[in-house]
Amino acid sequence: MNEMLIRAGMNRRQFLSVLGGAAVAAGLSGMPTWARAAAPHTLPPLPYAENALEPVISAKTIGFHYGKHHKGYVDKLNELIAGTKFADMTLEQLIIATNDKAKVTPIFNNAAQTWNHTFYWNSLRPKGGGAPPAKLKQKIEASFGSQEACEKELAEAAVSQFASGWAWLVLVGDKLRVTKTPNADTPLTAGLKPLLTIDVWEHAYYLDYQNRRADYVNAVISKLLNWEFAAKNLG
Ligand code: FE
Repeated sequence: MNEMLIRAGMNRRQFLSVLGGAAVAAGLSGMPTWARAAAPHTLPPLPYAENALEPVISAKTIGFHYGKHHKGYVDKLNELIAGTKFADMTLEQLIIATNDKAKVTPIFNNAAQTWNHTFYWNSLRPKGGGAPPAKLKQKIEASFGSQEACEKELAEAAVSQFASGWAWLVLVGDKLRVTKTPNADTPLTAGLKPLLTIDVWEHAYYLDYQNRRADYVNAVISKLLNWEFAAKNLG
């Protein structure tokens, strides 16, 4: 047996398992664990308590948004793919495989909404906002001129998205960009790398802000954005 195995106290099977895991992780570098999971898809735990984002987003909003809407997408997705060729795919594989295909639009919508919502919960944190980590801050300044200009563009995208959708900060090559998508659409299908997102479906803010989407967006940007999560997604 290899001396390294003996030193590590592992048998050959355990060692190969570690190697295999590392290879898979390297091949999917940058993909969060929850996005790599295959069916049945599960609702990942919220990264904080339901009332942790108050007063910007109420526990009541999170309770419905996470417990009903997000859970609903996960449950519907599992129902739609059961017994089909999509049953063993990861969320990201499902999104790519069903994008722009009319016959499987319901699968795309529920897979993308499952992914988008988990990404959204992680894009927020209690006592968020403030200054991004240095590496991200440099990129923001190189791409937008200043953090203020980046936030202004993000707010404009979020407020101007007609009806339901998402505003995103994404990495395109070496630059950061702001983009927006309607309904369940995600920048993943365009090969862009999302760094953070803001949900602007009415269910994200209506209980707290009614029609005042701009108030929700500005409060989220200044008080909840999880810049550390965005920095991690830079890779
Ligand atoms: Fe939502």
